[in-house]
Amino acid sequence: MKFASQHFAILGAGRSGLGAARLARLHGAEVTIFDEGEKAQQVEDFKCVLGQLARDLVVQPGEFDRVIISPGLDEHWPLPKKFTDAGVPLVGETEFAFNLTNMAMAAITGTNGKSTCTELIAAMFNGCGLKSVPCGNHGMSLSEVVASGVRYEVLALEISSFQLETIQNFRAKASLWLNFAPDHLDRYPNMEAYFAAKARIFEKVTRDDYAIVRAGESVSSGTAQRWTFSAYGDKAEYTYADGHFFHEGQRFGSAAGLKLRGKHNMENVLAALMTGRVFGLSLTEMLKALADYEPPRHRCELVRTLRDREYINDSKATNLHALEACLRSQERPIVLIAGGKDKQLDYTPLRDALNGQVRAMVFIGEIAPELEKTFGDLLPCKRGADMAEAVALATQLSQPGDAVILSPGTSSFDMYTGYAQRGDVFRDAVNALN
Ligand code: ADP
Repeated sequence: MKFASQHFAILGAGRSGLGAARLARLHGAEVTIFDEGEKAQQVEDFKCVLGQLARDLVVQPGEFDRVIISPGLDEHWPLPKKFTDAGVPLVGETEFAFNLTNMAMAAITGTNGKSTCTELIAAMFNGCGLKSVPCGNHGMSLSEVVASGVRYEVLALEISSFQLETIQNFRAKASLWLNFAPDHLDRYPNMEAYFAAKARIFEKVTRDDYAIVRAGESVSSGTAQRWTFSAYGDKAEYTYADGHFFHEGQRFGSAAGLKLRGKHNMENVLAALMTGRVFGLSLTEMLKALADYEPPRHRCELVRTLRDREYINDSKATNLHALEACLRSQERPIVLIAGGKDKQLDYTPLRDALNGQVRAMVFIGEIAPELEKTFGDLLPCKRGADMAEAVALATQLSQPGDAVILSPGTSSFDMYTGYAQRGDVFRDAVNALN
């Protein structure tokens, strides 16, 4: 038992904390879970200190051998600091689990496309007969997977900047850098800090590892072998153009059989195919395995066509880069519903991206007044008090042949529990139209 007679503190009572607790116990440690949240709940039969009790906590030096932090918490917040100030060594949940497994990994980071790509990769590996599971920041936490004792041939591990903040030895056989754009400025002091956290994905890679990087990205991928991809005409090893995929200029497949749409999704497909190459799969076999794959909900999802208007739910667009990708992937004129929480993002670059394609805009949420100021001189703008009103206004502003799209460009926490609820409310509002 690696951790026999040790006492571990686990911060966060979510899936990361749960996995870490199971894994620590499996290796003999005594475990206590801490979570300051009002809604935090008891986790299985683990000893838990929750809510006010966690906020009032005093940590004595020597009380704990190690503290494992979930990615939802920042190590500089008061709770983790109580432990580190008492001299308890801190480790991130991903790093903790990484050190307790030798399963091969494809690690996926980027501002947008992580979840789509993670699911694509796991589905593709499974379809080609290599047992895989999407995990990490998406679905099961890495700790849960490792604690389950199930042996996978390749893990498709989504890894966020928050998880990368606390790595030490972590490295993957294939590390994917999908793209980078400003986001999460509510958690990071500036863009450089967000970039630096993400770039750590390449910190420990070796010459035997592969960096799969979007063409034109300025990130350094250390000593790994670097392969690039592009669906936007940039020079790269793997490219997509006019419905076809190319490797070093040679066409090897068509997108016609895929259910994914939009150039941004073709970049996700390229990144997945390249990951398969790292693990020795054949391109044609992989394309076959990807044919049945449907994109996850809330990502440019067609909800309904009504009076020749397509209603599209892209609630997952929680930053401007995703919003722009959504606009670029549409061929119809657009009435755009945007807005939500004020994440201190600068919306002015979007003025160029609207580019004659957006007919009108309807704003929702905390940031609506600011958006009206930013775009009011460019095109018709309205404000919706709630989603139903926003959908009604957008419908009024639209014409036959248009797409009415919810692609908020920011997060939803001012009005909803998350992007999924926001997307569901949009869907309901659209389905209620007659
Ligand atoms: P993440 O897990 O990184 O948030 P998702 O796959 O959930 O990524 O997609 C988030 C948003 O970004 C969606 O609105 C989606 O349409 C858009 N998106 C997906 N892939 C890409 C990409 N490669 N480039 C830009 N935007 C993308």
